[in-house]
Amino acid sequence: MIFLLLISLAFLLLMIQDELNGSVVEEPLTASCPGCVKEISLDWMVCPHCLQRLRESCPACQKRKLISHGFCPSCGCGAQGVMG
Ligand SMILES: [Zn+2]
Ligand SMILES: [Zn+2]
Repeated sequence: MIFLLLISLAFLLLMIQDELNGSVVEEPLTASCPGCVKEISLDWMVCPHCLQRLRESCPACQKRKLISHGFCPSCGCGAQGVMG
């Protein structure tokens, strides 16, 4: 019986380790270029593959936003129902 307990304990430890490893993995700060769909970094202003502009200034609040977002996450302009 002790043997069985040890096995289940080891199994539990393995599960916990898997869980910890999974939570440590960070999301990469990348996205798809709207022009060529290749992987681009969210820091880039221009896609190095097709020279598509990736960011533009929001006309309302002048903050830089990703073109692929479609709307400005800073002030919400361009979001559904707030056109113009
Ligand atoms: Zn591109
Ligand atoms: Zn804005």
